[in-house]
Amino acid sequence: VTETPRFDVIIVGASLAGCAAAALFAKRGATVALIEREAKVTSFKKLCTHSIHSSATPALERLGIAALIEAAGGVRNRLEIWTRWGWIREPAAPADRPDHGYNIRREKLDPMLRELAANTPGVEFLLGHSVQELLLKEGRPAAVKTESAHAGRHTVAGGLLVAADGRNSRVAQLAGIKTKTTPHGRFAYFAHYRDLPLANDSTVQTWFLDPDWAGAFANDDGITVAGAMLPHAKLDAWKDDIEGNLVRLFDTLPQAPSLRNARRVSPVMGALELPNIVRPAARPGIALIGDAALAADPLWGVGCGFAFQSAEWLVDSVADALGDPRALDRALVRYRRRHSKMLDGHEFLMADYARARPFNTIERLMYSAAARDAFCAANLLAFGTRNIRPSRFLSPRALLRSIAVDLAHGLRSTPDHDVGAARKVAGVQGDRI
Ligand SMILES: Cc1cc2nc3c(=O)[nH]c(=O)nc-3n(C[C@H](O)[C@H](O)[C@H](O)COP(=O)(O)OP(=O)(O)OC[C@H]3O[C@@H](n4cnc5c(N)ncnc54)[C@H](O)[C@@H]3O)c2cc1C
Repeated sequence: VTETPRFDVIIVGASLAGCAAAALFAKRGATVALIEREAKVTSFKKLCTHSIHSSATPALERLGIAALIEAAGGVRNRLEIWTRWGWIREPAAPADRPDHGYNIRREKLDPMLRELAANTPGVEFLLGHSVQELLLKEGRPAAVKTESAHAGRHTVAGGLLVAADGRNSRVAQLAGIKTKTTPHGRFAYFAHYRDLPLANDSTVQTWFLDPDWAGAFANDDGITVAGAMLPHAKLDAWKDDIEGNLVRLFDTLPQAPSLRNARRVSPVMGALELPNIVRPAARPGIALIGDAALAADPLWGVGCGFAFQSAEWLVDSVADALGDPRALDRALVRYRRRHSKMLDGHEFLMADYARARPFNTIERLMYSAAARDAFCAANLLAFGTRNIRPSRFLSPRALLRSIAVDLAHGLRSTPDHDVGAARKVAGVQGDRI
């Protein structure tokens, strides 16, 4: 067993959250061991539709990754939502939040982040090392033991241990951190296509078929990702002809691109079990970021953004306290509170909708009003892109406005959208609001 020098921070997992945290910690002067079990810098996460909401854009800009994404052909994205009441879009860039997020394939994004972290002075990158054991000193994590096919066993010691090792976090398990798991009622299938431009120069189209869901995302290099998430009850029927079902579903969607004219350039990828996972974001001596802290329903496309943002919150909360265990633990409490304040409400609503139930009364109210009124649309899209929390999305003002819009709409003879036609095309049944 080889012992490496002691680091200020040990980060386990060099994907989005881990690389972002490593670069930000090192920029604050910390020494960082960044440990990744994959052996190649070019490895990437395949089960992802890599649409990053605009709430993460400030973090991407701060990291210097936004410019690299643009240089690599990443697409500036704007969320569009279809429900049975019509499209929810914004005619102009929002004034009070970032104007766009990014769509960029993970095969480009992940290596880009690894290079960024590896080239930041202060980061020692241990690629191809898998963390197997945790060593405690006076009850606090003090070191990890790693195994590597090419470099044997190492012990890596540090003052703060960061779990950035994804939804099945081995570090959390080794540290005895409890996992709250709630079941997910949908499965997902998606694939990458060429020659599949989206209508109206859209970059992100999502269709809430209530409870089915579909999405299409324009990506770098002329690739479009298209996929669907459906209740488990439909899995057996879908499994018989996955591709055919995807094609036929897209045939029914309003303003959707036709998969029949497109060239599929990836396998059709599936994720059949996607439980929602929540863990406390910190304990004395240890912090969790990204999916290790919260792996939420992919339907909402929040995980990449939350990975960058939670890395940023951690570094901002604790960087000045590294080296002093007591101060560090107080700072970790601050990080945990911030994580909780920013994401608990989102997590609650996402986990509830992941039951694959139909829209509830509040959702029907908010989505129908958003299809008919600019204020309600901006409010819903600010929430959907995770720029505002549920408390603001469902503020008394927003609720009253939505009620007023729906009442007024009920009295108008001509709807803003040809909702009836869209519902017929999509083949969905829905209640009136
Ligand atoms: C089907 C699907 C679609 C999705 N689509 C979107 C989307 O459109 N937009 C979006 O924002 N999010 C999406 N997500 C979520 C997104 O993929 C994740 O939230 C994001 O990858 C989390 O990043 P992370 O850095 O926390 O963890 P991960 O990307 O999971 O990385 C964890 C890293 O830790 C490493 N590791 C694990 N164990 C060890 C160990 N013992 N030792 C060393 N290294 C280890 C792994 O090799 C990996 O590199 C989707 C998820 C799924 C399943």
